Amino acid sequence: MESKVVVANHKMNLTVREISDYLKKISKINNKNVIICPTSIYAPYFLQNGYSVGLQNISYKEKGAYTGEISPVQASSMGISYAIVGHSERRELFDEKDYEVHAKVINALDNNMGVILCVGETDEEKDMLRTEYILKKEIRNALKDIKKEDECKIMIAYEPIWSIGSGKLPKNKEIEEIVVYIKEVLKKLGLSNIRILYGGSVNEKNIKELKKLKGIDGFLVGGSSLDPDKFLKIVEVAVK
Ligand code: PEP
Repeated sequence: MESKVVVANHKMNLTVREISDYLKKISKINNKNVIICPTSIYAPYFLQNGYSVGLQNISYKEKGAYTGEISPVQASSMGISYAIVGHSERRELFDEKDYEVHAKVINALDNNMGVILCVGETDEEKDMLRTEYILKKEIRNALKDIKKEDECKIMIAYEPIWSIGSGKLPKNKEIEEIVVYIKEVLKKLGLSNIRILYGGSVNEKNIKELKKLKGIDGFLVGGSSLDPDKFLKIVEVAVK
């Protein structure tokens, strides 16, 4: 079975002391298919240790008086190669709109960064059979006017919001059907070379089953990426 990409999203967790312990424990990992998205101030620790690093968010501005923001120009000048864009926590808690997600995607791509674009439906949207509508809307709005040559720099993470941090997962068959649907949406946009990840309650116990998913090129891991032992186990299974 082919090797998958594993993206760790640490969110706003871990202290410097914990990061130092984490780095010791994951030192066996030496693979470009693993991308660590730490809290941004810790990025240098992971870069110095040879990891591919992503930010959890990126500005759609180039530079200037935007307190608290980090631009793709700055990130790529440090060697940070990816940005997570449109994570559901940013959309929900920080009221991030589709047009901002789009502007962030374009700014990151134009400045030579890879993009991990998160899309997914809430519990209510799933119950109202609106999953496909939501995915189509989020993907079309985020990826409009993408240059063909940039598609290899994009990964779409399908993250059902009801699955994030809940321990609940869709059935493998349901995820595979969603992948087919996402590929149809992408095809209509003239895009055929975008990798698709799954995210939501991935852990060291279910990774073996999830690795069997057809059409899934990798995983976005939140909670279970915080524990270095669990994360190592996930990587050992997924990246082979
Ligand atoms: C996430 O927030 O992107 C995520 C996948 O979280 P968890 O693995 O904790 O469900």
